[in-house]
Amino acid sequence: MTTVLITQCLQRDFVDPIGPHDPLPNLLHVGYSEAARLLGPEPAAGPLAQLIDWARGLAPDAIDLIHIRDWHDPGDPAQREHLQRFGAHCLQGSPGRSSSCAWMSGPWRPPTSGSSTR
Ligand SMILES: [Zn+2]
Repeated sequence: MTTVLITQCLQRDFVDPIGPHDPLPNLLHVGYSEAARLLGPEPAAGPLAQLIDWARGLAPDAIDLIHIRDWHDPGDPAQREHLQRFGAHCLQGSPGRSSSCAWMSGPWRPPTSGSSTR
């Protein structure tokens, strides 16, 4: 039996640590408390990192890792309303569209059409 681990939007624009009184960088960011809960004081060794490390430590045929990522082309008129509503996030080529930690990095391909949205 294969295990499937699905993560969604664990990207810097959504979960990067911020200060307790910092404004949200966009309306989709999880906020100070949730970012701290997910990443811990040292993101490379925090709860989420431990989960991913565990998953990556399994035999390749024992688990499928699926990372769903948001991605936007700011020049696409079809995405303008979404970006205006929630604030700029996960823009093509920006650091914020990348995964929150190096351990989440890996081959990444932009969607073949449109964008994923929340
Ligand atoms: Zn989006």
